Amino acid sequence: MAAAALLRMSKSSSAQSTAVSRAFTSFVSSRNFSASSSSAYNPEPDIARSPPSSFLSRNSPLPQDPKDRNVQWVFLGCPGVGKGTYASRLSNLLGVPHIATGDLVREELNSTGPLASQLKEIVNQGKLVSDEIIINLLSKRLEAGEAKGESGFILDGFPRTIRQAEILEGVTEIDLVVNLQLREEALLAKCLGRRICSQCGGNYNIACIDIKADNGGPGIYMAPLPPPPQCADKLIQRADDTEEVVKARLEIYNEMSRPLEEFYRSRGKLLEFSLPGGIPESWPKLLEALNLEDHEVKRSAAA
Ligand code: ADP
Repeated sequence: MAAAALLRMSKSSSAQSTAVSRAFTSFVSSRNFSASSSSAYNPEPDIARSPPSSFLSRNSPLPQDPKDRNVQWVFLGCPGVGKGTYASRLSNLLGVPHIATGDLVREELNSTGPLASQLKEIVNQGKLVSDEIIINLLSKRLEAGEAKGESGFILDGFPRTIRQAEILEGVTEIDLVVNLQLREEALLAKCLGRRICSQCGGNYNIACIDIKADNGGPGIYMAPLPPPPQCADKLIQRADDTEEVVKARLEIYNEMSRPLEEFYRSRGKLLEFSLPGGIPESWPKLLEALNLEDHEVKRSAAA
């Protein structure tokens, strides 16, 4: 996709995101979702069984031509791969919201809302939250964005199951799915090294990854990403970034989310991107892979 086309798209109307949030909301109400019937990690949840097409024909406005709206991208990748880092950089570049369902879940579990303790228990075991809760949170986020005039999105952490992908496919058209990949050995270290500033929310990493090339693959070096001095004494770790829970999350990813690669590959939407190193090496290569390497974009990326 040419950068010029992307930038043109970023100036278009917010009608599409309106349609998406309405469609999600209609979906939620048409299925009588309620917080109390939610379940933790459940490969065969008993909700959302009807095909999205039946829902679509009843409730939702069909997606518009992608040229008339902003980008609608999805980021896939294992825990610790850096989905949030790259999705948020691209979101700044393209002027679309970065919507991370993990962030929505953490906001909810840190609130005093009725779901907080239930979510805490699920998330802290590395399990998946039920589709109904995730779709409720996502609908609310899209609606809030719509009220602020947002258009398009980069989704990070959603969809995470084939069922979620089918629901999304039923309500809107995804333009591109970026699948970030990193050697498995690096993922655990990156999760354990992750630090977040409790004040500004900035993401940093104290791990220094230096994996030598071997028969199994190329070597990789990822320098630590230290916090600026003003954040240094405010760093916290995510409660689910412990060795035991990260290993559980990786297992669940392989079982529940890995099949999404084939789902989107078969639709011609998947862009595989193997991270060659840390941000300094990977960011320009990612822009290149996305055809975003023109001067205008390079200037704003460097800013
Ligand atoms: P990760 O680093 O494992 O990719 P995230 O920040 O995306 O983690 O998500 C944190 C947690 O929030 C997940 O382990 C899961 O419990 C919950 N979660 C986030 N998105 C989804 C989703 N789409 N479906 C189910 N659970 C989700």
